[in-house]
Amino acid sequence: MPTSILKIALDLPLDRLFDYLSNGQQAHIGQRVLVPFGRQKLIGIVIAKASSSDLAAEKLKTVIQVFADELPIDAETLSLLKFSADYYQYPFGQALLSALPVRLRQIAPAVSRKQYAYHLTELGRLVDPATLPTRQLVLRRLMQALQTHNSLTELDLDAISTSARKLAKQLVTDGWLVSEQVPAIIKTLEVLMPAPPALNDEQSLAVARITQEVQIFKAWLLHGITGSGKTEVYMRLMQYVLESQQAQILVLVPEINLTPQLEARFRSRLTNFPLVSLHSNLSESERLHNWQLAQSGAAKIIIGTRLAIFTPLPQLKLIIIDEEHDSSYKQQDSMRYHARDVALVRAKRLNIPVVLGSATPSLESWHNAIANAQQTNKYHLLSLQQRAVSAAKLPHIECIDTTKVNLQHGLTPQLIAALKLRLARKEQSLLFINRRGYSPVLLCSACHWIAPCTRCSSRLVVHLGQRKLRCHHCGQEQKIPSQCPSCGNADLHPMGYGTQRLEQTLAELLPTARIARVDRDSTSRKNALVEILDQVHKQEIDILVGTQMLAKGHDFPNLTLVGVMDTDSALHSPDFRASERLFAQLMQVAGRAGRADKAGQVIIQTQFPEHALFNALRSQDYASYANALLLEREQVQFPPYVFTALLRAEANDFSLVQQFLRYAFEQARNLSNDVLVYDPVRPQMERLKGMERGHLLMQAASRVALQRLLKHLVSLLRAQATAAKVRWAIDVNPLEF
Ligand code: ADP
Ligand code: ZN
Ligand code: ZN
Repeated sequence: MPTSILKIALDLPLDRLFDYLSNGQQAHIGQRVLVPFGRQKLIGIVIAKASSSDLAAEKLKTVIQVFADELPIDAETLSLLKFSADYYQYPFGQALLSALPVRLRQIAPAVSRKQYAYHLTELGRLVDPATLPTRQLVLRRLMQALQTHNSLTELDLDAISTSARKLAKQLVTDGWLVSEQVPAIIKTLEVLMPAPPALNDEQSLAVARITQEVQIFKAWLLHGITGSGKTEVYMRLMQYVLESQQAQILVLVPEINLTPQLEARFRSRLTNFPLVSLHSNLSESERLHNWQLAQSGAAKIIIGTRLAIFTPLPQLKLIIIDEEHDSSYKQQDSMRYHARDVALVRAKRLNIPVVLGSATPSLESWHNAIANAQQTNKYHLLSLQQRAVSAAKLPHIECIDTTKVNLQHGLTPQLIAALKLRLARKEQSLLFINRRGYSPVLLCSACHWIAPCTRCSSRLVVHLGQRKLRCHHCGQEQKIPSQCPSCGNADLHPMGYGTQRLEQTLAELLPTARIARVDRDSTSRKNALVEILDQVHKQEIDILVGTQMLAKGHDFPNLTLVGVMDTDSALHSPDFRASERLFAQLMQVAGRAGRADKAGQVIIQTQFPEHALFNALRSQDYASYANALLLEREQVQFPPYVFTALLRAEANDFSLVQQFLRYAFEQARNLSNDVLVYDPVRPQMERLKGMERGHLLMQAASRVALQRLLKHLVSLLRAQATAAKVRWAIDVNPLEF
């Protein structure tokens, strides 16, 4: 009998494949198909072919349609997703389908956006680029390129400037150009790539070490202080890899906001290599289009956020993970994968190098690179300890004890004086406060009532601009009450500072200063952040007030002062990762000061100036602080010394959660002696979005033992009755508790 049974993965919470009869259309493994399922039609992916099925012949249904003109997903990508689904205890079909662009999950052939190429009209040919105004640089370059090249594709235009596509469309309207639809993306323009700067010794060594072993799997931890030129190292490696072979390179970044900046740097330096980005800010059609360019091998550089790790890349030869410590690499719902860990698996399977870059590596990575060098030396450490621009020194960091001075609206006299000095010198300042909104609580002065969220165990944040109270966990909003709901007192006031209040205070205190606020509220509009950053670069802003959105990656040459408002709560957080995270965050934010030739100063306001974390920060000594934290973790047996998994559960009714977790606890205890199973507890945030929550922590010295237990536990739980009434999930290597 011919192989007419197709085993198909569907987007269903069931960890198995589904058998269908072929409809006679040619279907490859990895091909997208449409199948009947009950009364619905579902999109599926062919995973295997067989000649027989366990199902009785009359029960087998037939595939409705094979989307034959799309490229099938290749075996490597399928197998990576299968591995991840198993490792993170998530149904394979769901993992697979949710890794695809939305358009590929829809019941229609995935037609890519039309592509255009541009050439000159008669009229356009009469224009001499040399006569065009020098101010209109993009126009000049575009017209110059068209003198020497017959036509330019959209990728060619991107290489000229990010605004060149728009300009080309305008020129079509003006009659200088005509556009023509082209079948697939092609790139014709070969331009002279700008000469890179000479590397310093540390950078050269890093590049040399990696290029020497660029044909094999190795995990390189590139530990470089902020401004040490890690990006320069990436670009050299990329150029080397792309010029020496048929290759694609995947660059992961933690946040969408960081892609435009990196994209611009890559485009201007690696001009001849088609680049696409993959992140959730793209429209569905752009995302599909970019994904298909990656899948076909046409795009050579792929910059993306965590989900991009699952993109099919037939010529993948190098993976770079920028800011590898960043927690946004971990997915916090559905399949709770960590993109860095998946990247390591992918690189190992492909036998290619992976470069993890950070100024403050995660303790997991640091441990892999340095601790017990003999046993766990899995990563190879490369250090950049100097700032790349020779004049740029590390900033001077000091802590001001807020209990010993008179605060003026939450600001120490030292910080105010430093801000004034920057204004006088026409330099820029950044105030870091990790709380958006006006103030974190609304308090009744008579009975000490605090406005709570009714759906979460949290307080409502005052947003004075909109005269609203808002929960930052569930989004619930209400008007600011005119009197206390508890005692009727009309004297309710905001307590503490958020970004909005700080912005307002500064405006009153320093009336001549031009202030911009950067937080999730002020940047929710598309391009808002880009516009603010642009203003900063044009020196139209004196003081930036912002949350951790500002801490990462941005390069402001004229910024010489960083003030850190109140981070003390993180010093005493019950979360064992809080100090690691705070240290990384403060190192990052401090790194924004004094990046060019001007000296930087960092002022930290705290009640605990002698805390070990601040001492380490003052001496900018990541290594000894990381080693000290690792020692603590080893003593109490926390990750990375043990492997953990969390069973998270939530329901409307807490007794259901309790019952479910109790059952899980007993089963888990019986399943293995090598795994420590803790009593079920409630997380710090007991209620979230109206759901009562609980969790069960499991921990083991061996990854394999933990994996074995989880596999059995999950199948028991799926079969369990209360499981249906409880929303539950397994979180392997959880970052948050
Ligand atoms: P990081 O990514 O480590 O924070 P960057 O790669 O952004 O550092 O480099 C910081 C600054 O130093 C950038 O402006 C970059 O252009 C510059 N730079 C990097 N390497 C060199 C070098 N070898 N010579 C001169 N300037 C350099
Ligand atoms: Zn009251
Ligand atoms: Zn809430």
